Amino acid sequence: MTTLEHAMVGVDLVLAMGATRRYGWQLAAIAGIAATLPDWDGLPVLWSSRQFDRVHRAWGHGLLSCFLLAVVLAWIDSRYDLVTRLTRVGVRVLHVQIPETWQNQLQIRKIFNPKIGGVWFLTILMAAVSHPLCDALVSGGRGLPDWPIQIFWPFSTCGLVWPVFHWGDVGVTLILVGYLFAMLRWRSKTKPLALAAFLSIAGYAFLRYGMF
Ligand SMILES: [Zn+2]
Repeated sequence: MTTLEHAMVGVDLVLAMGATRRYGWQLAAIAGIAATLPDWDGLPVLWSSRQFDRVHRAWGHGLLSCFLLAVVLAWIDSRYDLVTRLTRVGVRVLHVQIPETWQNQLQIRKIFNPKIGGVWFLTILMAAVSHPLCDALVSGGRGLPDWPIQIFWPFSTCGLVWPVFHWGDVGVTLILVGYLFAMLRWRSKTKPLALAAFLSIAGYAFLRYGMF
């Protein structure tokens, strides 16, 4: 699955739970970021294709790595509100005009609340774990071999793969993008639309590939 699709799945998971009403847009944003981060193990592609083949879909894609990622990212973001700070910098640098009514959405959280830390941890863990699971569902096709995920790395190198969607299939991307636009258009229906996005993906898998 591509980085953009992983991010949209992470955001969609939070929106489907309706959690942004209580915890703010920052929770969906950090979930979107967390859902892309297990691909850090693909960085060796910059210097060695052999090393890339060996560690990608292993080091960052295991459940233990996702757990550690959630611990670190939840601590940093719930403590220092990194998402809001970076957004404020982006707004300033790009000279984006924020409507008066949205100004309070960019207030930096000043007080660390352990409950917020817990919510952030569980959300980031869920988003991070969605990454290897989605990668296991999108694999192979068009003459390409399946690429199993080493979900229990470093304890085991056994691979997990259930290639429901072929690599490069744009159907899932179009569904996720379409529903995100629908959520922007009908904001009061965000939660049911986010849920509908996942149901549509399941329906697409059934119609396109006869899976499930
Ligand atoms: Zn991946």
